[in-house]
Amino acid sequence: MGPETVLAILNIVLAGMFGAVIGSFTNVCIYRIPEHRTVVKGHSMCMTCGHELGALDLVPIFSWLCLGGKCRYCKTPISSRYIKIESLTALMYILMAATHLSMFMDPTAVDPMTNIFPFIELCALFIMINIIIVEMMIMHDTGSSMYGLSVALLIDFAVQLFARIMNVVNNDASKELGSKITGWGIEFVVGAAIAFLAVVIAVLFSNKPKELKSYLHDSKGKALRTSDLFAIVLGGVIGIVPSAVASIVYLIARIAIGNGKKVKYLGNILAAGAAVGFFGYAAYLIIK
Ligand SMILES: [Zn+2]
Repeated sequence: MGPETVLAILNIVLAGMFGAVIGSFTNVCIYRIPEHRTVVKGHSMCMTCGHELGALDLVPIFSWLCLGGKCRYCKTPISSRYIKIESLTALMYILMAATHLSMFMDPTAVDPMTNIFPFIELCALFIMINIIIVEMMIMHDTGSSMYGLSVALLIDFAVQLFARIMNVVNNDASKELGSKITGWGIEFVVGAAIAFLAVVIAVLFSNKPKELKSYLHDSKGKALRTSDLFAIVLGGVIGIVPSAVASIVYLIARIAIGNGKKVKYLGNILAAGAAVGFFGYAAYLIIK
């Protein structure tokens, strides 16, 4: 094995270890944020026996494997979610290192256009994916209807990630960065504007003028407000055409459901609309 190969393997292994640590932090966020606890300080402890965990209990992936998925102290099984999220994040970072090897191997030859920017792009996507995983698992744990929506968002980001990696692999990453960023910016703003318009129409149609105040201020209107905010952000994230599809679906459901009890299904309906728009448009582009 030549020194080049050793260096390449070393880089990939280090990236995987770094990813596992990020995954471990993701787990901390999932369990502490809903309890309004800080994620930067404090010791982790076993959720069953409350025993404070030592350094050996906190090595990402390996601790879970070595302990057979059980607490060292009280032997209560620990959720496999820990190791799943840690391995997933590690895998993502390994993928990133493997597709950017030349950048790690020969830093002097780094060309910002072909190397650094795709790298930063991928870093940003990884961070987004981890934030969505945190949000998704919190939604799952609290039984929120936004769970479906989070899953849709995650799929969206995973598809984007795959596209970017394929882009790097095909060495087609050097397309002018400026025009790319402008393109995304426009997609985001117009997509969000379409969803915003749908939300405004839905709010006006489903509320009498007197009820409008209740929508804006009451805790009763909170589920609707959250759902509407989600719709606007999602519209921006998925881009113009998918946003138009998702917004129409959302608008119809939002007016049909009004302020009734089925409000909790809005998240799932929006997720379904976004998925149809996103994948439908992607399929259209491929066929075209
Ligand atoms: Zn324990």
